Amino acid sequence: MKQALRVGWLYRGSGEVIEDGLITWEGSHIVYSGKYREEEAADSNLIHYPRSICVPAFANGHTHISETLIRGLVDDVPLEIWLYDHVWQVEPQMTANDAYVGAQLGIAEMVSSGTVAFVDQFYYSDQIARAVSETGMKAYLHPSIFDNNPETGTIEAGLKENLRVFDKWNNYEDRIKIGFGPHALYSVPEDTFTEIYHAADERDTWIHTHVSETTTERANALKTWGMSTVKKFNEMGVLDRILPANGVHMDDEDLQLIADHGLPILHNLGSNLKIGSGIAPVPKMLDLGIPVVLGTDGNASNNDLAVLEEIRLAALIHKGIHQDPTLLPTRTVINMATSNHQTIFGEVYTGTLKHGHPADIAVFNLDTVRSRPVIDPLSNLVYSISPTDCQLTISNGKILYQDGELTTVDLEPLLKKAQSVSERMIADADYKRY
Ligand SMILES: [Zn+2]
Repeated sequence: MKQALRVGWLYRGSGEVIEDGLITWEGSHIVYSGKYREEEAADSNLIHYPRSICVPAFANGHTHISETLIRGLVDDVPLEIWLYDHVWQVEPQMTANDAYVGAQLGIAEMVSSGTVAFVDQFYYSDQIARAVSETGMKAYLHPSIFDNNPETGTIEAGLKENLRVFDKWNNYEDRIKIGFGPHALYSVPEDTFTEIYHAADERDTWIHTHVSETTTERANALKTWGMSTVKKFNEMGVLDRILPANGVHMDDEDLQLIADHGLPILHNLGSNLKIGSGIAPVPKMLDLGIPVVLGTDGNASNNDLAVLEEIRLAALIHKGIHQDPTLLPTRTVINMATSNHQTIFGEVYTGTLKHGHPADIAVFNLDTVRSRPVIDPLSNLVYSISPTDCQLTISNGKILYQDGELTTVDLEPLLKKAQSVSERMIADADYKRY
């Protein structure tokens, strides 16, 4: 049966906000989107939110989803200490089933704040794909490849598992895509990267990896290869498949190479700020036409998965540091959480609410103390409301969250399980927090 959603304000991803908007869909794709018309809504299951705004549901450009289990493990330390002395001390205790619990928790958090798709790099991708398949989410998963990986051990075994996960899950129900996830060029040997490139190229998929996150990483790259990581990728002939996370410390030549290859950059502002890595030159990236997308990074470094917070941070920070309030206006930052992701996902997630596109929809309440008056609803969305003002999240036409209830996750037992799994991992690691 035809489904219909009538809202106070509809923003389809470009152009103007439509007052008293309507979206209808049959199955997974949008049939009508525009001004409310009685004849378009006829013979449908109609949901009505008269004081809410409907926008394309968000996508999260970079996660390590099961890191939800070590949320808040350590704060206020630099990246290298954070990674080697803390995260990689406790994460090895994670089992496949733990990763499944962590993925469910992350998905529940994202769905309840209006996000339906995420780009992930983590181990136990098989279990993460299982959680994605069961919950109705969408994901581009990149199984992590590095030495001493808790799931696979060696790099060779990691690559083998990556290939197995690709064969098992790629194109599952038009919701799951699989790429390759070598952790970084400093943690995976050059020849393995080249081997991964050939595998990715053959399968027409991405290599999702960390690039130029800190000044230390950049300095090490210059010392090791005599050039930046981006230039090294270009010299190796693998750059056209790289999906770079962070890009905080890229110079003008790096950015030009990224632009010339038509690559997006996965921008994790909240995480970069928290770890003190710096602030990526986003206005310059956008000027070059690079489709910057917003990500949260893992819960170990953010410490939440709320894309709306990243939208607000991105809108604010560049205005402040450049003393220019015209930078990153509302529509630009919304695109960074929605339509810019199409470069990555293709038709799986378009971030646009138009006829023929997937019905990936989020509705936020503008009838609260935080959002009165409504003069410009997009202004309220970006600068005023909270991620918890999300009322409805729909992925491929299916309701995953409505009025505080998750439809595909049993939240109470999940919260208990997540707490006990996290406590067990920390105990087993014989880890001293500080
Ligand atoms: Zn990361």
